[in-house]
Amino acid sequence: MERTAVYPGTFDPITNGHLDIIERAAQIFDWVIVALAVNSAKKTLFTEQERFALATQSLGQFANVRVMLCSGLIVEFARQQGAVAIVRGLRAVSDFEYELQMALMNKKMIPEINTMFLMPHERYTYLNSSIIRELARYGSPTIRDFVPAIVADALMKKEEFRARNAG
Ligand code: ADP
Repeated sequence: MERTAVYPGTFDPITNGHLDIIERAAQIFDWVIVALAVNSAKKTLFTEQERFALATQSLGQFANVRVMLCSGLIVEFARQQGAVAIVRGLRAVSDFEYELQMALMNKKMIPEINTMFLMPHERYTYLNSSIIRELARYGSPTIRDFVPAIVADALMKKEEFRARNAG
């Protein structure tokens, strides 16, 4: 039986930390679906089309990974896709409480689907999308160490656009 995992997130934008987790999941499962959350309460820098394009273009090297948009409950989406697991990245203790709450709630809704936590390489422990957005705001080239080149370019373009329109 082929095993599919769903890796959900906002991916605003996708970072090397996300890619690290996806690479690990792609080695464990036959198929990995990166489920890009849309309609969530979160306000995002990139539109869902932009986040989708950046994720898809960053994942070209993985033959068993695809990106899909998900507008409903992740666990329902996972069931519809025939997934056996939901993958989440766990960086620090600070991630734990929220992740535990979500995993337990998902398990209550659909007990057959387990949440699996993967740890990234330690170099990504302090990386998240919001730090990257903050660095980009100040034009820091350091973002290039933490996101794919196309994402860094898109961030810089977004900030130039914002700066032009603010002035
Ligand atoms: P969400 O809004 O669901 O937290 P994110 O895009 O921020 O969406 O994150 C998606 C998943 O990726 C989460 O499980 C998060 O913990 C994980 N993640 C984010 N950044 C990293 C990182 N640097 N290393 C490992 N996992 C990460």
